Amino acid sequence: MDEARNFEPISGAVMPRFSGVPTFMRLPHVSDPTGIDVALVGVPWDGGTTNRPGARHGPREIRNQSSLIRRVHPASLVNPFALARTADLGDVTVNPCDLMDTLGRVERFFAKLHAAKCATIAAGGDHLITLPIFRAIAKGRPLGMVHFDAHSDTNDTYFGGCRYTHGTPFRRAIEEGLLDPKRTVQIGIRGSMYSEDDNDWAMAQGVRVIRIEEYFKLGPEQTIAEARRIAGGGPTYVSFDVDGLDPVYAPGTGTPEIGGYTTFEAQQMIRGLAGLDVVGGDVVEVSPPLDPSGNTALVGATMMFEILCVLAEAIATRRRG
Ligand code: MN
Ligand code: MN
Repeated sequence: MDEARNFEPISGAVMPRFSGVPTFMRLPHVSDPTGIDVALVGVPWDGGTTNRPGARHGPREIRNQSSLIRRVHPASLVNPFALARTADLGDVTVNPCDLMDTLGRVERFFAKLHAAKCATIAAGGDHLITLPIFRAIAKGRPLGMVHFDAHSDTNDTYFGGCRYTHGTPFRRAIEEGLLDPKRTVQIGIRGSMYSEDDNDWAMAQGVRVIRIEEYFKLGPEQTIAEARRIAGGGPTYVSFDVDGLDPVYAPGTGTPEIGGYTTFEAQQMIRGLAGLDVVGGDVVEVSPPLDPSGNTALVGATMMFEILCVLAEAIATRRRG
């Protein structure tokens, strides 16, 4: 690989962070995925939201806050931009009037990137966006997943038969053979439930559900050791719903649940995924209208950087064969 052709964030020591056109991590905005290893993509869609909306505004605000991201990881000293050619591939053009049309649009956008051998980290958007992403990148090779969330998102239907909401993506992904339930771990599940058996379907499929009570008993290190045991040994997707965090750290989200992990614990957990065969990820449910301080968008941008670091290392490992 010609590393000299790689893109790096424009340094805040060269051009002030408050200036310029905002892109993810101050990278160039490119439209052709050829030769790009990692695409950062916005999916400005909240048509799957069942309660408080606003995640459609997530990508723009995450771009804005991501101007704070520098090039080198503070703990691992990894420079992901040197390991993997990374760029802002723009937003999917969604159709805010039509959910089914939008699912097709998201799938086609990510399928194009996947065909160009370009891994993706998506900024949502609500959590339904992960389903069309899986349809684009997981056909014929069911993925494992490390899923940070207060919610299992494996409900069946809402409102008398609606199969597509941000509470159903992983039920559909398992049914469609895109997500391997036996290589899926959900971390942080909590909150009042619709009924006693809300998480039973997922567990019956073999999903490892780490409820928040168990998480706090294990702590981040042992939780991640368990996640590696479950998801390791195959291609793995990292899906980060910001409502897995305590709402003290990420208030700007549609379905907050008190009693979650901290931002630093989440960072420790993502860092603990280094060495897994990470193939992509997303950060979802940042809702800027509910986020007056902008902190939730900053959290979203920073978690994208954490995922990027483990993804870039995995790409470098695959390149070495
Ligand atoms: Mn979710
Ligand atoms: Mn959630």
